[in-house]
Amino acid sequence: MTIELINTGTELLLGDTVNTNAAWLGQQLAAHGIEVSRQTIVPDGPAIRDAIAEAVTRADVLILTGGLGPTNDDLTRECASEVLGLQLDVDPAALATLEAYFAHRGKVMSPVNRKQAMVPPGGEVLTNPHGTAPGLYLPAALGRSKGLACAMFLTPGPPREFKPMIENHVIPKLVGLYPEYAGRTVSYLKITGLGESEIVDRVERDLEAVPGLTLGYCLGRGDVDVRLSGEPSAVEQGRGIVMSKLSSYVVSEDRRILEQVVVDRLRELGRKVAVAESCTGGTIASRITDISGASEIFGYGFVTYANDAKCKELGVEPQWIQSDGAVSHRVAQAMAEGCLNVSGADYALAVTGIAGPNGGTPEKPVGTVFAALADRSQPTQVRKLFFPGGRDRFKLLTSQSALEMLRRRLFGLEIP
Ligand code: AMP
Ligand code: MG
Repeated sequence: MTIELINTGTELLLGDTVNTNAAWLGQQLAAHGIEVSRQTIVPDGPAIRDAIAEAVTRADVLILTGGLGPTNDDLTRECASEVLGLQLDVDPAALATLEAYFAHRGKVMSPVNRKQAMVPPGGEVLTNPHGTAPGLYLPAALGRSKGLACAMFLTPGPPREFKPMIENHVIPKLVGLYPEYAGRTVSYLKITGLGESEIVDRVERDLEAVPGLTLGYCLGRGDVDVRLSGEPSAVEQGRGIVMSKLSSYVVSEDRRILEQVVVDRLRELGRKVAVAESCTGGTIASRITDISGASEIFGYGFVTYANDAKCKELGVEPQWIQSDGAVSHRVAQAMAEGCLNVSGADYALAVTGIAGPNGGTPEKPVGTVFAALADRSQPTQVRKLFFPGGRDRFKLLTSQSALEMLRRRLFGLEIP
């Protein structure tokens, strides 16, 4: 089955609205093992017709978003009917639903809304409890007189109307139409600590040898999702290959991000973490506190940017900063151990580094960073890392590495 998506709306081309519907739909369908083969964005108006006329010659299923409103540039319904050679008529049931929608809100329906209740013969209305625009399902058979065989789903543009319609109407219909997809599964293995090419090197050849397995990679923020889809047995075989080669790098198999996994694990163990950050300016604390339930496991975060702050708040000895520099193994260790003492937590993470673009030296170029993990029951561990290339990326990857050190400790894995 080939499935195409057309997103309508001049605002999408102007960049005033980000096309979140396309990304969201892609993910929802991928979760059922269905891949969208092409996405097209067109402005409001007659360009919609041209895009539909082109897509129906290629696709088995066409999903459209937007342009179901009451105004005269909302033309999706009209364009789809025209391509199929169908006349639109007012559907009494759809009209009654629309009138009830307005009545419920104490409003009188404007005559312009009548066109939202227009349905071609053979079309099926998809109810929209969250707005005025009903959706439409046009079965593939409706295009027969024009020699076409493409099923169409017309859905509203606003995400809060679009999403429930996809979940409640479109996906169940697709799975009904193409039962082979009902049996497909998708598995995501989230990996951190290895780049995309290192992952490819280690597992791709074996994964490609699994019959019926579809493989994809998705680069995230400091991590990579390996996506395996196909028959459950093929997906399971693929999963086994990834786990046998990369298990310690697999953060989650349910799409949970690193900070979520760390917070969940700390809660499970009933332990707490504190953080002392220099170059990341609170990024690690921010990521931890993005997760609901963080208050159970997190009480203290220090942003000790100045040398003075490192000494005053964390007890770092000024002479170590003098001798080794603020960005050093010894200072990172002292920050983590000081943080552990002051906070009373079970674990403390500390980072100190040179984000750049200024401040680098030949021995410690921009991007150099030390990350330390202090733990009440084990010696403090310090890693020297290197993330050149922009402050945002430096902060992200430094925070990722620090959280990954903690994840490894919490699961009893070796820290490289
Ligand atoms: P429409 O159904 O075309 O009138 O869309 C109405 C609203 O939905 C506008 O606020 C749009 O910006 C929003 N919208 C339309 N298409 C999308 C899309 N692909 N992704 C996110 N929002 C959208
Ligand atoms: Mg529109």
